[in-house]
Amino acid sequence: MELPFAESYRIKMVEPIYKSSRAQREEWINAANYNLFNLRSEQVYIDLLTDSGTGAMSDNQWAALMTGDESYAGSSSYYNLKNTIKTIFGFEYFLPTHQGRAAENVLFSVLVKEGNIIPGNSHFDTTKGHIEFRNASAIDCTINEAFDTESEHPFKGNIDLDKLEKVYTSHAKEKISMVVVTLTCNASGGQPVSMKNMREISELSKKFGIKVVFDSARFAENAWFIQQREEEYRDKTIKQIVAEMYSYADAMTMSSKKDGIVNIGGFMAMRTEELYKQASAFNIMFEGFNTYGGMAGRDMNALSVGLHEITDGHYLDNRIEQVKYLGDQLINWDIPIQRPIGGHAVFVDATKFLKQVKKEEYIAQTLAIELYLEAGVRGVEVGTLLADRDPITKENRYPVLEMLRLAIPRRTYTNNHMNVVAVALKNIFDRKDKIISGLKIKSEAPIMRHFSVELERIKIKK
Ligand SMILES: *Cc1c(COP(=O)(O)O)cnc(C)c1O
Repeated sequence: MELPFAESYRIKMVEPIYKSSRAQREEWINAANYNLFNLRSEQVYIDLLTDSGTGAMSDNQWAALMTGDESYAGSSSYYNLKNTIKTIFGFEYFLPTHQGRAAENVLFSVLVKEGNIIPGNSHFDTTKGHIEFRNASAIDCTINEAFDTESEHPFKGNIDLDKLEKVYTSHAKEKISMVVVTLTCNASGGQPVSMKNMREISELSKKFGIKVVFDSARFAENAWFIQQREEEYRDKTIKQIVAEMYSYADAMTMSSKKDGIVNIGGFMAMRTEELYKQASAFNIMFEGFNTYGGMAGRDMNALSVGLHEITDGHYLDNRIEQVKYLGDQLINWDIPIQRPIGGHAVFVDATKFLKQVKKEEYIAQTLAIELYLEAGVRGVEVGTLLADRDPITKENRYPVLEMLRLAIPRRTYTNNHMNVVAVALKNIFDRKDKIISGLKIKSEAPIMRHFSVELERIKIKK
């Protein structure tokens, strides 16, 4: 017999987690105003809110923490990380930041002006936030297949080159700050971008003189999909694939909390000294001096080890196998999810799951609340709440997809935990026809409202 799959690590330290009763959860979620971000972590049994900063560091990362150099200027940890970034991504210049959105803030302070246009593949929420905050607009050029959850397209994160070219030809070059390519594309379900697409985006953008920036939180997962799905890369290593990917970019922003496998941190990297110098002025103002910019020396050390671990050996097989393990169970029970299964999360198609809840009543959030009540599992809405209101009309923006995202932290939970999540969703699926109403907003913030929105249940009059 072929030997079954097993993790390529063993556990050296554990952290207890607690189950709760349904009655407790009813009380807690009510007190949290039906916003899962407001729950205390002890009120959650299995936390799939995000894979951001929630991964388990390795023994080598913990060891690297101890040798961090906390010098204000010229820390060896900075040079260590600079060297790692040069080796893996090929960029000569980098600036550390406290997390990914800080890198966006700094880089966009240089590149984004009022009235600018920034095309991309379903920009991440903080990316879009930093664009709209500067009164510029993000234009989604993702391929149409990404919005059909049943399409098995292997690279649903791809940019539609016709859509991109249309943006390039219909606006003055000075108006277009850059194209942002998100790897993998979170908004469309953790879906990868192909190497071919990156190459073509680069060629087209060069022709029009537009900068290519990779939003890189899950760059290694993206590289793994290229290795699996793009014939000519089958025999290439992840490091070789990553090196080619980044040869097509002018700069990158990175949330190290994902594929850096650290709990906090970020950076931006770039090819030219000119951009580095412009960005470093803002980095010093917003983050810190160039050789630490918002990170402790020890954290830069741990990140350096994390970037090597994620691009080496069998880590990615384990990682993406576990996400698939959860997704396959749901598919077997005909629960509608985004196909093919992405790299960091399973996305449940809430519109197809809860057919009786109206879109004005926040379908995916309703499903997320049901899942929490069922088993203490916390997922997150990727739908109308996340999409915010139109900045001009102030109306809700209804995205094509209403999803419940179950993001799997790296090296944190076992497949037994995945079984609990799968069965909890199956139980809800079996009684889905009884769920006929959703939620309404009591209060919300003007931008990125999903973090702090307060909701209440809609009571159906008998
Ligand atoms: C997480 C993330 C960000 C923002 O990073 P933070 O570290 O959370 O500030 C930006 N883009 C993408 C694609 C991300 O996943």
